[in-house]
Amino acid sequence: MATNDQRPAAKASPERSSLDSGPRFRLLVERSSDVFYRIRLTPEPVLEYVSPASQAVTGYSPAELLDDPTLWQELVHPDDRALIPDGAFIAAATADELEAPVVLRWVRRDGSVRSTEHRSAAIFAEDGALIALEGVARDVTARITGEEHVRAADARLRDLLSGIDLGALVLDRSGRVEFINDFLLGLLGRSRDELVGQDWIDFAIPEDERAALRETFAAALASGAGAGQREDGIVARSGEGRRLLWTSVIQHDTDGRVVGLAGIAHDVTEARRIAAEHARLAAAIEQSAESVIITDPATRILYVNRAFERLSGYVSSEVVGHTPRILDSGVQSKAYYDAMGAALAHGVAWRADVVYRRKDGSHYRVSSVTSPIWAVDGSITGYVDVGRDVSHERELESQTAQLVRERALITDTLRRLPSAGNPEATAELFCRQVASLSDIVVASVLGFESDGAASPLAFVVPGSPDAGLRRFTVERSRYLHGRSAAGPWVSEWIDDPTHPYADIIRNLGVRAFAYAPIQSQGALHGLLAIASSKPDGVARLSEQLGALVDFADLAGALLGRQLADRGVARRMHTDLEGVIEKRAFAPVFQPIVDLRNGLTIAYEALTRFADGAAPDRRFGDAAAIGLERELELATLEAAIGAARRGISRSKFVHLNVSPELVLPGTGLGELLRDVPHRLVLEITEHAIVRDYAAFRTGIAGLGRPVRLAVDDAGAGFSSLRHILELEPAFVKLDISLIRGIDRDPAKQALVAGMRHFARTTNCRLIAEGVESEAEAQTLAQLDVRLVQGYLFGRPAPLSPRSTQGREGSGP
Ligand code: C2E
Ligand code: CA
Ligand code: CA
Repeated sequence: MATNDQRPAAKASPERSSLDSGPRFRLLVERSSDVFYRIRLTPEPVLEYVSPASQAVTGYSPAELLDDPTLWQELVHPDDRALIPDGAFIAAATADELEAPVVLRWVRRDGSVRSTEHRSAAIFAEDGALIALEGVARDVTARITGEEHVRAADARLRDLLSGIDLGALVLDRSGRVEFINDFLLGLLGRSRDELVGQDWIDFAIPEDERAALRETFAAALASGAGAGQREDGIVARSGEGRRLLWTSVIQHDTDGRVVGLAGIAHDVTEARRIAAEHARLAAAIEQSAESVIITDPATRILYVNRAFERLSGYVSSEVVGHTPRILDSGVQSKAYYDAMGAALAHGVAWRADVVYRRKDGSHYRVSSVTSPIWAVDGSITGYVDVGRDVSHERELESQTAQLVRERALITDTLRRLPSAGNPEATAELFCRQVASLSDIVVASVLGFESDGAASPLAFVVPGSPDAGLRRFTVERSRYLHGRSAAGPWVSEWIDDPTHPYADIIRNLGVRAFAYAPIQSQGALHGLLAIASSKPDGVARLSEQLGALVDFADLAGALLGRQLADRGVARRMHTDLEGVIEKRAFAPVFQPIVDLRNGLTIAYEALTRFADGAAPDRRFGDAAAIGLERELELATLEAAIGAARRGISRSKFVHLNVSPELVLPGTGLGELLRDVPHRLVLEITEHAIVRDYAAFRTGIAGLGRPVRLAVDDAGAGFSSLRHILELEPAFVKLDISLIRGIDRDPAKQALVAGMRHFARTTNCRLIAEGVESEAEAQTLAQLDVRLVQGYLFGRPAPLSPRSTQGREGSGP
């Protein structure tokens, strides 16, 4: 408990103090929840008295506070310390402004913050000098945090309203703008200064709407009731009008008096414009002379127009919800619908003359275009079919004229056809379109390989399921290939049991085939064939031959690239198989040298191909066509065989392997199992390891210890993660980092960084492609000890000499 005795400074003060008053008053002070205090100001502010309530505010008892009379200053929140001793705290007291309290924050012993409101009085010496402060402090923490919450919530709301893509407006009860947000100002093209305080209706509302709105506003204020929605126009500075959809509430003060109105507005200008446009379009479609059918993606009818109703004899309600099949006359084949479906699925508009059945059973003919309807996100949301009644026109047209039209329509569709994922899929799509020619029972594309072998890419029988792809005999292939050189032809079908599709052809009663070569850029890729089962098939197909040649040209454009690529891949495959089978390669070895003593510690096995192909290209090609594993195993076997015979067992042998080869089941384990050398597997950094866990399992399953090296580090593929995951014994710095390192501070810095990284991850660096003394010296300075490169030895076949270990260079 604080007593006067514990305040020696106070005894020495001559001035009169209210805190020295009688015992009753003292009791009050000591029991009050307010903190009473006295601070002596000269020579520096020290606490002379504080009442027990200080404990609650600061966590310190009066005794503790008085024991260290400047401690109180340290307890003042750092942000408020400026208020003492020369700041507002004392100024307020000297001005005797008891009514304008100062608020100070205190950091309590437990770290929490309290706020106190101070009212103090100044004590002056006889000579008029200010010597002390006496005051009372009240804990107002609860009040202040409460106010802060409200303020913060207010600020957040205001933030929201300012940033939002909606208009926000507050009007006072006379209709003047109190608050307006940026979005609304943006719509008006005006600044806040122009608007605040203005009459909203006069300022922003189109003249012809003002009177009505004023009435509504007055009525709303008068009724004082709730929220409402309405749409109003506004006029921007530019004179441009916009439509806003408002949701507003009448606002009241705490006594329930109406103070004004607050509203949030959507800009619906664009939506209204689109709606108006839709209405216009809908009217146009409704009144169009052409029949219009709109369906959903599942081809259920959503809408038909009046022209459709007139033509078909159906009323809208009878067809909506059905598919257009209800109009099927039986005149179009299933192939027709298949082809149409395929074209639409690929986003290609379908044009054709179609015969539909009326409600009364009679037929009518329309020239129709069916197109997909695209959504903004690129998906198909439905189809629209626009048809012109051509029943009368067609009756007058000749048979040939109709054929010409039909071809033109099919050509048009084929021309827009995209190529599918592979030649077979593209050919299938193509044949479906071709098969929609009248009276065609087969459409087929076959491809020639480089040796002339023919294999079907598609064999489409309209209305039947996929016949599957069957191979042609060598004889027939040769015949078709030879015949193709002379251009298109038509031939009568003579039953041939060796034909792969003989059964189907027989069942269809085929009488004749027509063929047209598929070419692109002068190369023959295949044949397009169609068949007819009409008794006069040869004559009919002869008539179609011109169209067939046109279609084959389109097939060449569509399929040529795909088939050519496949040809290249096939050839590469054959070549590589030859290389592997004939072992047309040989291992070479390049020394890895310790710079400190010039000793060779290891050899890296590399491969040279007999035909001189660059090894990285050849391994890359092998990977591209799926022969990587075979080639790697074959070259590894050769390297291991040579190493056994020619490399001392004290050396490491480095082998290049792709990550896939390490996975279980490739045969790598068997190959490496009893190689006597210590082995290092170099995993190139370019080959992404897809699954590190599987990779580690593979390494563990090799059945012998191996070390790992990360190859080509720094070759431009992010690698630190790779290194961390693989935990290699060696990291090989790529030649691109080493080349000219003696003259390149950036490369030096990179290598120094890698050196540090290697040390912390406990692996060793090998610098690749060292060609000059200067590079070697710089590497030595950077503390990279292991090096490989032409300076120390080129990759070379093993000679007895190269196993001796001290040589510095190859042959
Ligand atoms: P790599 O594994 O990074 O092999 C190092 C390449 O750098 C070798 O090229 C080597 O001849 C070359 N080299 C070594 N020192 C120097 C030098 O001082 N200056 C220059 N300019 N080049 C130097 P190579 O033999 O043409 O092999 C190229 C890539 O082909 C190899 O890169 C490796 O990824 C792959 N490769 C070669 N042989 C095999 C093999 O048997 N199996 C596998 N999987 N890949 C191989
Ligand atoms: Ca390597
Ligand atoms: Ca390398």
